Amino acid sequence: MVESEPIDASPIAAFDYLRELQCYRGEIDAAIASVIDSGALILGAEVLACEREFAALVGVKHAIGVASGTDALSLALRACGIASGDGVITVANTAVPTVSAIRAIDARPLFVDIDPGTLQMSVERLDELLQSSESEHVRCVLPVHLHGQGADMHAINALAARRGLVVIGDCAQAHGTAIAGRNVAQWAEISCYSFYPTKNLAAFGDGGMCVTHSDTLAEALRELRQYGFRGDRVAHREGVCSRLDELQAAILRVRMRYFQEAQLVRQRIADHYRQGLADCQLELPPLVPNCTHAWHQFVVRTSMRDELSAALRSARVGHGIHYPQPIHLMPAYEFLGYRAGDLPCTELAAAQILSLPMYPTLRDDEVERVISVVRGAVGGQPECNSHKRKT
Ligand SMILES: *Cc1c(COP(=O)(O)O)cnc(C)c1O
Repeated sequence: MVESEPIDASPIAAFDYLRELQCYRGEIDAAIASVIDSGALILGAEVLACEREFAALVGVKHAIGVASGTDALSLALRACGIASGDGVITVANTAVPTVSAIRAIDARPLFVDIDPGTLQMSVERLDELLQSSESEHVRCVLPVHLHGQGADMHAINALAARRGLVVIGDCAQAHGTAIAGRNVAQWAEISCYSFYPTKNLAAFGDGGMCVTHSDTLAEALRELRQYGFRGDRVAHREGVCSRLDELQAAILRVRMRYFQEAQLVRQRIADHYRQGLADCQLELPPLVPNCTHAWHQFVVRTSMRDELSAALRSARVGHGIHYPQPIHLMPAYEFLGYRAGDLPCTELAAAQILSLPMYPTLRDDEVERVISVVRGAVGGQPECNSHKRKT
């Protein structure tokens, strides 16, 4: 139990940016110095190269660097012609920015419940919503690949195509996710990324990227991110200022060199957790057949979440909850008219999920310690997963 943990065990962080920085400090410093010395600070050679390299990494023709993941989503919506009053279907168990982006263009978020097994957008609930009168003004489906697990894009794209809806992917947690052997970036009209410092591919500040196969959408995104310019200082449409910073682009290029290796370490940590927790009284993250999980988070699920959290806290093991409150129940979005009980699977999951430490510099002995604390708190036989999908 918790009491048996050594009192002086050093803390395990939920996320440790400084430890990772040590791995390539010299290269980062050199990249920053080279930008500063170049005299080109905005949309220069580093952003261009970063876009090219990121497009190659995810296997999509165009990449357009922007200022954040939120901006990537709102500019993607605008580029696809989604406008004020249009409906955009997404999930409520995502990060708030997914919804901030929809609201930034004055569109209306509609929430569908999640699949209780995978925690991703439920295809059955999406189908129901699309057949109801509520979906009259819907123009777009915006699935989120939550925790690095892929949403069911085969089914979502099929349903969207039948209704002529645009599909935009929120891949902010899914750098490295693949579905049926194809990078998740390739499963939507535009796929949107964040480089927020905790993401699998991260800047040292804010940054984002839109990727698309479409020449037309790429051109629209390049105009939208910079005042509507086409390189001529004439606004051809109303745009904004949302550029990927040259310094962040240089940093991202260094980190991209370590990306595949870091993903393999995440996979190894996930395997380690799964092995160590296999017989515990909690639900491990499901493995979706044919999907490569990017392990942005390692999310376990238990009805004893508070006890587990307390045990981790007293053993000084950092952990998180992604996310504790579904967005449809947050005060800012009351005006959308949702109530508790509207999204039962989303609401139940929010009360039961917990994210264990997951980052490439987490050491094996630390993973062992996390496992032993979790086992002490919720050991025993596997619980009966009554909420699991019936197939
Ligand atoms: C991080 C994140 C975003 C937004 O990223 P920012 O760069 O912080 O704007 C959007 N969606 C999801 C699911 C995220 O995790």
